Amino acid sequence: MKADASDAEIREAIKRIESYNLTALNLPGGERVAIGIASAIPPELRETLAEVLESLPGVDRITHVSRAYKLASREFHEANTVIDIKGVRIGGNEVVVAAGPCAIESHEQLFAAAKSVKEYGGKLLRGGAYKPRTSPYSFQGLGVEGLKLLSEAGKEFGLVTVTEIIDQHDIDVVAKHADIMQVGARNMQNYPLLTAIGRSGHPVVIKRGPSATIDEWLLAAEYVLAQGNTNVILCERGVHPLDREHTRYTLDLSSVPVVKLLSHLPVIVDPSHACGNWKYVSSMSKAAIAAGADGLLLEIHPDPSHALCDGSQSLKPDAFGELMSYLKKVAEAIGRYVD
Ligand code: PEP
Ligand code: MN
Repeated sequence: MKADASDAEIREAIKRIESYNLTALNLPGGERVAIGIASAIPPELRETLAEVLESLPGVDRITHVSRAYKLASREFHEANTVIDIKGVRIGGNEVVVAAGPCAIESHEQLFAAAKSVKEYGGKLLRGGAYKPRTSPYSFQGLGVEGLKLLSEAGKEFGLVTVTEIIDQHDIDVVAKHADIMQVGARNMQNYPLLTAIGRSGHPVVIKRGPSATIDEWLLAAEYVLAQGNTNVILCERGVHPLDREHTRYTLDLSSVPVVKLLSHLPVIVDPSHACGNWKYVSSMSKAAIAAGADGLLLEIHPDPSHALCDGSQSLKPDAFGELMSYLKKVAEAIGRYVD
């Protein structure tokens, strides 16, 4: 729509689209409103619809999107999407760091981790309360008790919180306690879960599945966007490796510039799960920022050797602190900053 389009003009454009049995989404941007058509448009309707809409007052232009993902594409939305959560802006010029334990284990463990995140300049606190473990006999997370600890720690240290959701029935309780939901690699193609998160409107990080192509990953984001939820952050966390001898997955850093070109959504990188070994996490964190990532998702633990989950890839607090000081320099070198 034109920057000065009135509410009535916006409503009229939406009504016209809906009169063809299509879904129209009102998507306010910084300066103007975009209206996305979140449906497949029958080919025979395309031209007529474009002509009808073009003639309406308040309509600036019609954009035909060639990609399967429409709302996620940069063709549809040219400017970077910046997601503001409690004043933390993800996708802007600032590089933001989320850190915390793989799993929330206790008050003592989580609060010690949160203290380090705050001390060294992280903006977000991560921690899993529901863990998707390969074995049913492994620690599965503290559930609601863990969510409550996360919310307390977030408040205590002034950190935005992020936690994984594995079951769509937990949406309300996770939304109540955490600022951002994380859809894990194993659930990237859980479409009912993505749709439910889309309906909730809650901010979400969608991790790339280890076997997912970039287009499949962007289509996962499209499931959330198609419900009118524009608070979507993508997270690269490594793809299936050639061998597992030295690293857990292969960090596909080339996906960062590719996704930044194809999409307007913020992209962050999780080098912890990609490497599976804390020794490589700092190098790949620096590389991720250099490659254009908008942020990092890191696992840290006050006592990694006793961690209940993913201790081998977790940084100790002092190593995290040292990394943060280097990240500031890398960000600066490419015209960005870590606050
Ligand atoms: C996690 O972040 O702890 C996690 C389980 O990650 P992924 O879904 O990438 O394996
Ligand atoms: Mn983990």
